Amino acid sequence: MTISAPIPDSKLPALGTTIFSQMSALAQQHQAINLSQGFPDFDGPDYLQQRLAWHVAQGANQYAPMTGVAPLRAAIADKTAQIYGWQPDANDEVTITAGATEALFAAISALVRPGDEVICFDPSYDSYAPAVQLSGGVLKRLPLQPPAFNVDWQRFDELLSARTRLVIVNTPHNPSASAWRADDMQRLWQAIAEREIYVLSDEVYEHICFARGGHASVLAHPQLRQRAIAVSSFGKTFHMTGWKVGYCVAPPALSAEVRKVHQYLTFSVNTPAQLALADMLRADPQHWQQLSAFYRAKRDRFVQALSHSRLEILPCEGTYFLLADYSAISDLDDVAFCRWLTEHAGVAAIPLSVFCADPFPHKLIRLCFAKQDATLDAAAERLCRL
Ligand code: PMP
Ligand code: GLN
Repeated sequence: MTISAPIPDSKLPALGTTIFSQMSALAQQHQAINLSQGFPDFDGPDYLQQRLAWHVAQGANQYAPMTGVAPLRAAIADKTAQIYGWQPDANDEVTITAGATEALFAAISALVRPGDEVICFDPSYDSYAPAVQLSGGVLKRLPLQPPAFNVDWQRFDELLSARTRLVIVNTPHNPSASAWRADDMQRLWQAIAEREIYVLSDEVYEHICFARGGHASVLAHPQLRQRAIAVSSFGKTFHMTGWKVGYCVAPPALSAEVRKVHQYLTFSVNTPAQLALADMLRADPQHWQQLSAFYRAKRDRFVQALSHSRLEILPCEGTYFLLADYSAISDLDDVAFCRWLTEHAGVAAIPLSVFCADPFPHKLIRLCFAKQDATLDAAAERLCRL
């Protein structure tokens, strides 16, 4: 008699492999130019790499403190003060995490109880929903419409209920490349001020924002930040997505709850990488100060090159993603079109509908422009032939 291995009753039955893994694998299989998963095809700063090697050689190879190494938390607190006009307490309000992904998961796990409602904006980044589901929360998705993907604040008010516990904000927004204004933060505050609702603000693209008025951070809003967990990622800022170092900033009571989860999810984050990042933040603040200009030039180059294509390019106010409408080229739905594009045109992209719960009938794809100019030019040449 053979005894078959048990198949667990899945806690996430509807979930497959992420679209990012799927499309990157397909790109590799077909040797397509990979503009799908968001990562640079160039390296981060030499200095950062040297500092990593140096700290490894100095023996900084054991566990970091649970909340993160002190020099990195201090450098983040100073950077926050410089940009948003408010200095978090480095000990009680800044926590280093294994990428933004861990901070998001820890924050959702710490705050959401069974039956709690969580509001997010669709299309929404793919890591929010599974975390909410695992906590027993109920996700209420507010659909945003192209081309501007603005929030309809009246509809937002209508979504609020006595069970609303958390609002997940993401600005600049992946995948739409739209960005909130300070007015949006104020409007959010007005909507939740009288209720016990918290805000999880995913700001991993805080330094890649082209909007007039710059990035509107929850941390720049004096009332909202008392209710908020702001999340960022050094992967985006220093072109090192593989290092997986991120952080969150939140008031002491919220930070304490996030840390309760963090200490059993990962306990602590790669020690030499944290020390190197602390050195980098101190030695070269110009890197992050000039990041928007760096990516604006790439965006503009790519948009210009695509102006000869039949793609219609949507406005891009932030992130390193560009949305393109392909309805002049194909009738395929976006998932099928991205597959076709990878296999037959040699360019991999991400479909937008996978980030939405409701049907998303638009013919939109997301193209990552965090690439060397030569890569962007080669991709544009292929896209212009369609
Ligand atoms: N949030 C958003 C909106 C992202 O785009 C990403 C990654 N691209 C993350 C979170 C995760 O960041 P990390 O790689 O630091 O975990
Ligand atoms: N956040 C990256 C993107 O939007 C992908 C990260 C991942 O692969 N999980 O493409």
